[in-house]
Amino acid sequence: MSVKIGVPRGMYFYKFYPFTKRFLTELGTEVVPSPPTNKEILDMGSRYCIDDACLPVKVYHGHAEYLKDKVDYLLIPRLTSIVPKEYICPKFGGLPEMVKYSVSELPKLIDVEVNMYKNRRDLINSILKVGSMFTKNPYRIKRAADKAAREQKIYDNSLLKGELPCKYIDGTDVTKSNSGPLVGIATHSYLLYDNFINMNLLEKLSNRGIRFLLPEMLEKKVIEEKCQILEKRMFWSSSKDLIGSALYMMENKKIDGILMLTSFGCGIDSLSIDLIQRLGRKKYHKPFMVMTLDEHTGDANFNTRLEAFLDLIDRRQAN
Ligand code: SF4
Repeated sequence: MSVKIGVPRGMYFYKFYPFTKRFLTELGTEVVPSPPTNKEILDMGSRYCIDDACLPVKVYHGHAEYLKDKVDYLLIPRLTSIVPKEYICPKFGGLPEMVKYSVSELPKLIDVEVNMYKNRRDLINSILKVGSMFTKNPYRIKRAADKAAREQKIYDNSLLKGELPCKYIDGTDVTKSNSGPLVGIATHSYLLYDNFINMNLLEKLSNRGIRFLLPEMLEKKVIEEKCQILEKRMFWSSSKDLIGSALYMMENKKIDGILMLTSFGCGIDSLSIDLIQRLGRKKYHKPFMVMTLDEHTGDANFNTRLEAFLDLIDRRQAN
């Protein structure tokens, strides 16, 4: 019987799952992702996680709790830096400890650190460390990593072309609208692709005849170029992606409005959103709305705000 490795469906799951799955499967393990977030998972996350954590971290705890009795290992990497000379939010670095001390009776954790701040090669060491838990053959680990990198590339390219992660990962999809206003959605993947916590935003927009442009549909070089406007280099990767994509969406004349999803209590986002508003909002005069999500966000409240934003776009177009 093969070793089962649980992968909680939260934080950077939608960014790196294809690599993770292929790499671990090639090493002979069985990869078990938790299901899409639901009420039970969110409730468990809110119960076990500390109160003042952001929503995505709470949700992550719920997924870890869901998986803990079903697998031999839980993969909770300590992500410190995934781009040279940049850090990501410190919550990613503290995630293994947060889960370890909040969720009881966990299986063994794979909490390898990924820190590419100084050197991309550090990623190779992290991969070797995880691989050597399941095979002593370094060539097998290298082959598995190569195949996983190819799988990840195919996935990234499909998102760039407008496909949604759910199609690649779960075989489900949203029937997108081919006409109608185009809305840019600037946010993080863990808010954008978690349909439970974002109240099925993409489906709601599609049903209302709205098209959308997402950060994953933009080339990295476009985001980098837009961030050149900043006086200082942005050293948080997630902020850089947010600011670069929002500025692109503001400048692009084909985009009729910008929606930003953020999590209550996210310090990094509050800084980024303030910068975005100062740099672009007044200049481009487009409908712009920030929707803040937390575990108490209700469908009715969310829908009312969304409708108000879409009405604004409709009125602008009518004029
Ligand atoms: S960037 Fe904000 S929402 Fe994301 S993990 Fe950090 S605190 Fe939470």
